[in-house]
Amino acid sequence: WGFSPFELAQASHMRPIQALGWHLLCRWNVLEELMIDEMTMRNWLAFVESKYNSNPYHNAIHASDILQTVHFMLQTCNLWSYLTQKQITALLLAALVHDLGHDGLNNNYHKNSISQRALMYNDQSIQENYHLFLLFSSMDTNQEIDIFHNLSQENFLELRKAIIDMVLFTDMSKHFMLLKDLKETCEADSLDEKLRGSSDLLLKAVLHVCDISNPAKPRELAISWTERCIEEFFSQGDQEKSLGLPVSPQCNRETTSIPDSQIGFIEFVVLPSFQVLSTALPTIKDVCLPNLHSNLNYWKEKKEEL
Ligand SMILES: [Zn+2]
Repeated sequence: WGFSPFELAQASHMRPIQALGWHLLCRWNVLEELMIDEMTMRNWLAFVESKYNSNPYHNAIHASDILQTVHFMLQTCNLWSYLTQKQITALLLAALVHDLGHDGLNNNYHKNSISQRALMYNDQSIQENYHLFLLFSSMDTNQEIDIFHNLSQENFLELRKAIIDMVLFTDMSKHFMLLKDLKETCEADSLDEKLRGSSDLLLKAVLHVCDISNPAKPRELAISWTERCIEEFFSQGDQEKSLGLPVSPQCNRETTSIPDSQIGFIEFVVLPSFQVLSTALPTIKDVCLPNLHSNLNYWKEKKEEL
């Protein structure tokens, strides 16, 4: 849980996706599941890495962080026991591509600026739709990176659907709906059985929860991510001001209180999500929740100091 993707990025000469992706896709037998050779997988990982931009936050280090966090859920939290090999494959691939081609600007910016991406997706989960489009359209035109070419049409469509479902649910605007569904499932009497029957929901919830897991990490990592996130948000706010657009929430460097935004994010979004997921995956209680409480207190102290 304390794995540092920043150290990974350094050690891999800024190729965290190719290094960790290769390791974990082998670990979870993804090459066998897709029936592909090493070269196709290596080409695909290099392609994925190349499509991440050097944003302060939404970059290849973030994608490798989410991949590793998903791996922690699969292995240490026993998530694998509820999933099929195909679902494990879909989850790992979705983690790798879930922010592909992100331009460091959120859906609100795209909507308000009526950008090309907003036009293409009619303001609906703009970035998430774009990440998926970039993934599948590139493989369609380049055989060398097509990791799905040996699958039957039926298996490909199933895997594609699972990846699309998961990535679309990383859209924060779907957070409360997803959490409500997960909560209802986790309140069932025979939880084990219920989770096995709701594995599609579990997949979506896990990728989303991993995507917002920064404040549940040990302090040093949590703060590094906060700094990067704020830098990206404020840079967006600057662009919005210069274009005369409404400045998106948390993006105004003159008025946003960093401790306040972190306290709100932890109390209303991250903590309730981890609490619900911990009913399904109890290891979360001991490993993640203590960090969340501790980081929440840290930001409350910071607020007092201001
Ligand atoms: Zn993300």
